[in-house]
Amino acid sequence: MNRTERLRQKDRETIWHPFTQMADWEKDAPLIIERGEGNYLIDTDGLRYFDGVSSLWVNLFGHRRKEIDAAIRSQLDRLAHSTFLGLSHVPAIELAEKLLAAAPEGLDRVFYSDNGSTAMEIAIKMALQYWKQTAGGDKKQTFMTLTEAYHGDTIGAVSAGGIDLFHKIFQPLLFTTRRVPTPHCYRCPYGLERNACALACAARMEEEVRCHREELAAVIVEPLVQGAAGMLMMPGGYLARLRGVTRECGVLLICDEVATGFGRTGAMFACEQEGVAPDIMAVAKGLTGGYLPLAATLTTKEIYDAFLGRYEEFKAFFHGHSYTANPLGCAAALATLSIFETQGVLAHVASLSGTMAEELAKLESRRCIGDIRQKGLMVGIEIVADRKTKEPFPPEMKVGQRVVRKTREKGIILRPLGDVIVLMPPLSSTEDEIEHLVGSVGWAIDSVIVE
Ligand code: PMP
Repeated sequence: MNRTERLRQKDRETIWHPFTQMADWEKDAPLIIERGEGNYLIDTDGLRYFDGVSSLWVNLFGHRRKEIDAAIRSQLDRLAHSTFLGLSHVPAIELAEKLLAAAPEGLDRVFYSDNGSTAMEIAIKMALQYWKQTAGGDKKQTFMTLTEAYHGDTIGAVSAGGIDLFHKIFQPLLFTTRRVPTPHCYRCPYGLERNACALACAARMEEEVRCHREELAAVIVEPLVQGAAGMLMMPGGYLARLRGVTRECGVLLICDEVATGFGRTGAMFACEQEGVAPDIMAVAKGLTGGYLPLAATLTTKEIYDAFLGRYEEFKAFFHGHSYTANPLGCAAALATLSIFETQGVLAHVASLSGTMAEELAKLESRRCIGDIRQKGLMVGIEIVADRKTKEPFPPEMKVGQRVVRKTREKGIILRPLGDVIVLMPPLSSTEDEIEHLVGSVGWAIDSVIVE
């Protein structure tokens, strides 16, 4: 047995992988990654693969990026970790200042944590406690969410989520939220046609907020792109109207920028694209350039102020984690933000997004492609059995999984969401890499569908 085989064997004997049917895994020969180099991952046999989903949407500037490597090494020479409960440290202070400078207007405080789910738990708890400690806010303890939402895997985040496949089984543990149908033009919940609908979805959402303003603490959304649902894109104007109605009705707006933040949609944060400044914003994933688990929940002075009081009033926010604001993560995040400041990243993303659109247009004629959705460098290609009826392939055909598996033969790593092929290449990709990525996906779809 060679080294790779031995490692595979040990993996099968000892590990339980996330979001994975382990019965299939045990029969498979998984890639075991040993190194990263720029936009590529290299396995234990020395084979190179383009990281087509940025290591599950986290990596921004490639692997072993020298500026981030150096920042972590230099921080390691000083301090790997100390608690944030009762102490502070240098990189967290520097990062908070930079993060607030980059964030939408009005966000004024940074509450650190260590992953996207916890950043969202914090957002939810913060909103609830804010109202509890605000005159007249006592009844505001319900959240409005979108069907098909995804905000993480912890119980609060799952309560705010709406993907039955992941969430339904946990129903007995969840708090209820007021759900409004996801604004999703390809499968419009109101059966209307794109551009001829007068944004009925937004009108319905506004009505819901107005009607329940007394009980709503906040509306929670993934701005512009509902990622885990299959890269569903909000129609233009929806988010701005959501901000308008929540302001009008005294309901907080929580934007989950965990997936969309840090340039993925073409702007630093997706909500900027509609001139929206939320009351609470969660970030994670790209915050450290995809290096280390660090997250943050940003909020306004108004919300922060509601937690101030005398010690014995116990108005403090009783939430924190062992690794809150890990200094190595903060150092990686500082290096990440400085790459944004100095290296013209968003201009590069704009040009790459154009190339991506041109390449995707070449796939459109395929009979089995129902919809191609793109916002910046976030892409979903939905494969269907029947383009007219939009009927999907039966799940046992595992079309999405087979397509991404096929792309490995072209040296590309992807991970689908059902039969939606997700492309989310690093922001540091080249035009040639985008062409190769999209071309290979077209080839893989053709190979799988005729098989
Ligand atoms: N919110 C959104 C929008 C996400 O896409 C994700 C992860 N895919 C999360 C929250 C959860 O983040 P994490 O996996 O870091 O807990």
